[in-house]
Amino acid sequence: MQVREQVPLSELTTLRVGGPARRLVTAATVEEVVEVVGGADAAGEPLLIIAGGSNLLIGDQGFDGTVLQLALGGIAIGDSGNGVRVVAGAAEPWDGVVARCVAEGLAGVECLSGIPGSTGATPIQNVGAYGQDVSETIALVSAYDRRTGSRVELEPSQCGFGYRSSAFKGSDRYVVLRVSFALERSPLARGIRYAELARALGVQPGDRPPLGATREAVLELRRSKGMVIDPADPDSVSAGSFFVNPILPCEAFSSLQQRAVQRLGEGTQVPVWPDADGSVKTSAAWLIERAGFHRGFGDGRAGISSKHTLAIVNRGGASAADLVALAREMRAGVQAAFGVDLHPEPTLVGVEL
Ligand SMILES: Cc1cc2nc3c(=O)[nH]c(=O)nc-3n(C[C@H](O)[C@H](O)[C@H](O)COP(=O)(O)OP(=O)(O)OC[C@H]3O[C@@H](n4cnc5c(N)ncnc54)[C@H](O)[C@@H]3O)c2cc1C
Repeated sequence: MQVREQVPLSELTTLRVGGPARRLVTAATVEEVVEVVGGADAAGEPLLIIAGGSNLLIGDQGFDGTVLQLALGGIAIGDSGNGVRVVAGAAEPWDGVVARCVAEGLAGVECLSGIPGSTGATPIQNVGAYGQDVSETIALVSAYDRRTGSRVELEPSQCGFGYRSSAFKGSDRYVVLRVSFALERSPLARGIRYAELARALGVQPGDRPPLGATREAVLELRRSKGMVIDPADPDSVSAGSFFVNPILPCEAFSSLQQRAVQRLGEGTQVPVWPDADGSVKTSAAWLIERAGFHRGFGDGRAGISSKHTLAIVNRGGASAADLVALAREMRAGVQAAFGVDLHPEPTLVGVEL
């Protein structure tokens, strides 16, 4: 176990903001994790889990407590009944797991190529992109339950997966130790659902192109949007999408559509996708752009990515307060223009919108 005092969290987040952690502990075994978490809980000390730091916005005052990094790695691949099980330690970099699955001819996570961060964080917000999310393949989540002080194995039905959400998000009850995925042994990707990806691959939606080509097409699309962490791309100094796409009841969507026509003229059509349970999902990026916040917006240290409307970028030397001020401005602008509340995707620590 490694313990360091007063570590700047800006060094551990992709947004490069966050004041110091009182103590940063790196735990290399499950026993160490249990010792650190159990110890902090018994002492009533605040605890924050940090992994790749790619979905965290931490305030400038830092975190007055224990910040825990899990160094639990390892990937195991084995046959199981009618499919293949891939089990990865929480700290295993997610894109490495995807690359390995694609190389081994295992289908089910190829559209999630290029997403930064750790495997242990993927269940937290049910990581998703280009028509896939991890809830489709997660078979089991091994975790430490801070409420009972015991290790648990959670079935997907216990994980409460939804769009960019789960029972883990917004709750600090579980520390994810390991995630198990059920994949299909096939050289072909799962049927492509996302129109932009189908076009990039030159296939029809529903077709099954080769796994490797699918991964490459996803990586290329992501790079063109600054959505792959790249030291040479200043637009990738972000937490990915800063706002989730709003999910609205049908009546609220009708008022939004009316408001959009009043504001933008006859023939305006707000993007809409049917969601489960009769509600609909619309596009946060569309609303932000039509409210006047274009790519490259902002002339300060915090701005909107020049490649993607949803990404708030630290252009160099921004504070968490700068990023929050911009996010508030965008949220207020969308509320004033369309009456829709935007919700942040990253976990906010010590800051509020
Ligand atoms: C350029 C870029 C592109 C992105 N694109 C996407 C995308 O396409 N789709 C998408 O869904 N996300 C995307 N993201 C967001 C982010 O990459 C994912 O949410 C990722 O899963 C976060 O992993 P992490 O290891 O960095 O987690 P962190 O940022 O370290 O942590 C995120 C949250 O999870 C908690 N957490 C982390 N590990 C554990 C654990 N083992 N147990 C319990 N809690 C834990 C943390 O406490 C925190 O609340 C993107 C981010 C960036 C910077």
